[in-house]
Amino acid sequence: MDKDHLWHAMHRYNEKDAPMMATEGAGSWFTDTKGDKYLDGVSGLWCLNLGHGRKEIAQAAYEQMINLSYFPLTLSHKPAIELSAKISEHLKGPYTTFFTNSGSEANETAFKIARQYHSQNGNPGKYKFISRYRAYHGNTFGSLSATAQANRREKYDPGVPGFLHVPPPYSYRSSFGENVENSDLLAADYIDQVINFEGSKTVAGVILEPFISGGGVLIPSKEYLTKVAEICKKHDVLLIVDEVVSGFGRTGKMFGFMHSDEVQPDIVTMAKGLTSGYLPLGATAVNSRIYDKFKGDGDLNHFRHVSTYGGHPASCAVALKNIEIIEKERIVQRVAQLSETKLSKLFELTALDKVGEVRGVGFLYGIELVEDKKSKTPVSDEFMGKVIGSCKAKGLIIGRNGDTVPGYGNVLIIAPPLSSTNEDVDFVIETVKSVLYELC
Ligand code: PLP
Repeated sequence: MDKDHLWHAMHRYNEKDAPMMATEGAGSWFTDTKGDKYLDGVSGLWCLNLGHGRKEIAQAAYEQMINLSYFPLTLSHKPAIELSAKISEHLKGPYTTFFTNSGSEANETAFKIARQYHSQNGNPGKYKFISRYRAYHGNTFGSLSATAQANRREKYDPGVPGFLHVPPPYSYRSSFGENVENSDLLAADYIDQVINFEGSKTVAGVILEPFISGGGVLIPSKEYLTKVAEICKKHDVLLIVDEVVSGFGRTGKMFGFMHSDEVQPDIVTMAKGLTSGYLPLGATAVNSRIYDKFKGDGDLNHFRHVSTYGGHPASCAVALKNIEIIEKERIVQRVAQLSETKLSKLFELTALDKVGEVRGVGFLYGIELVEDKKSKTPVSDEFMGKVIGSCKAKGLIIGRNGDTVPGYGNVLIIAPPLSSTNEDVDFVIETVKSVLYELC
């Protein structure tokens, strides 16, 4: 039935290998149809932050569905009000939030808000967006246009006009020459140059993840984002921070941008960890400096944007419970601590011949595999498959970065649930180490 009727995400039809099918989960582990247990070292799609089976979250959804099953946000309901206030508190506000169903839609919403903001602020010509090569921002046309991964786009281009791409901060393969000391800052400067070349009167926003995740786990120095924020401010260009993966503790801070000083984004988008994947929800939080322009009666202030299920009462109730648990169990502090005391042991793998670089922050690690350290030639797809398959055979699921740049799908991705026990984290480290010591 699966083969006949179910169209899988990132589908590649393959007669022989049926996709793994899970039947149940508990904490960071799930069981497949054969009864084998696996630790989910990528948290589903980086979203299952609190792991499987949290009864309080299920109870919150149940109670909300019984009490008020649906109500649109053209009007209002309590879980959405409370959640928007909670988000503002954690962003060290004031922020006002528009709710959607997913990260892609959260980014779409951000683009529309940014264009409308400039328009009603007297700058209707500011419409372009800048994002970085290797970035992924979603599957809808606008968010896919901000996405700058050739393989993801080639069958669907041309995208939406007005999206420009710049080099990412990536000192290991710098766009600015080998062994350049301040490569990240040059990448930030490049954004300044592009805004100047395009004419700042035409640029609406810069969208970026604090740490490129799916594009290969790129961890810039903390000065990079501070500098980009300064550049945006100078040109009246909105800084849109995509916290879809990095939000809610993944990096050892509540939000990834909080690693850098003096960054207060104009817009923050989130999804995934907002509900720990228990129900779909996306959010676009807008700083009051921007939101103020949407106040008043004029037609320009009218934000003509609606999502039937965005901010569903049950999703908001689940998000509130999820955040309550994150606070109560001090998940963010725990991630920072376990990253430092345990996951950072993964850096030792850099000693191996085929490990080009290990990059990591919080519970977000990437291991870039190369044929040899000198040439930095990416290992083959087959080799990546062998490493991932060997981890799976030992009971650990890890991921990889697709084919971010053609031929460069060579980064292993490790991002376990944030509530993983000490033993779970040890298991992840030991398994990855033993496989890489054997194969690399
Ligand atoms: N932004 C980033 C950084 C993502 O990684 C993703 C999804 O993986 C999205 C946006 C899109 O989120 P969604 O799949 O919920 O639409």
